[in-house]
Amino acid sequence: MKTRSHKSRLIFIIYFFYLPLSHVYATFTLMEMQGKVILAVGAHPDDLEFFVGGTIAKYSALGAKVYYLILTDGSKGSEDHLLDKDELVQIRQDEQRKAAEILGVMDMFFFAEIDGELENTLLLRKKIVEIIRTVKPDTVVTFDPSYLYDVARGMVNHPDHRTTGQATIDAVFPFSRNKRTFPELLEQGQDVHSVTELLLVNLNQYNFVEDITPYLDQKIKALGSHISQKDDSEDVIRLVKNLCLKEKKKSSECFVKITLAP
Ligand SMILES: [Zn+2]
Repeated sequence: MKTRSHKSRLIFIIYFFYLPLSHVYATFTLMEMQGKVILAVGAHPDDLEFFVGGTIAKYSALGAKVYYLILTDGSKGSEDHLLDKDELVQIRQDEQRKAAEILGVMDMFFFAEIDGELENTLLLRKKIVEIIRTVKPDTVVTFDPSYLYDVARGMVNHPDHRTTGQATIDAVFPFSRNKRTFPELLEQGQDVHSVTELLLVNLNQYNFVEDITPYLDQKIKALGSHISQKDDSEDVIRLVKNLCLKEKKKSSECFVKITLAP
């Protein structure tokens, strides 16, 4: 049996003792994911493929039931101002369905709010609560509303992304678990539901990383379904291969993970 060299022993020590202090790599097993229900909420068709597509593919493959909710109609997602709006909306929903199918998503919902005009209203929160009480997710995946800008990438996060995160978090807590909020839903047979975990997309500050290396091809294939967005361009693929800049060796997706108290 070979003994470890001094150098490799040092690497071993750094890997196992330093890494958990910086953030947590996911270690879900088949048993843990089997039958788990996940609701992923995005602002536009293609958001979820770009930011969390590998995680969705991974969780689906491990036996989770994944649902999508897309809040806007994607009607600003073209520079062709002559293209008919309804036609663009239909194209983007069709692309979204194809992409979700590639990732193993069970079912999806479209709210078709106007792209670029999303506001965190009482009505929007109520509609999200209705989906949460229908699907009864263990985990909700969405944007971190505090992810405002990204200096390293020279990017400002889209306002619809931030509003999606805020409205969804509000719907998760406290509204979907509170009997006195939207009592008419109770009367319609929609009982309260408590989500137990939030995974919030934030590429800068995160405490949870999914290694998606085995699912990267699936993610890129799903992105390729968004033909109108050219999401399989070299620039996009380069970005998604290195989404979490602090993770040098693995293709990964990164989140703020919050386990909610009962
Ligand atoms: Zn978007």
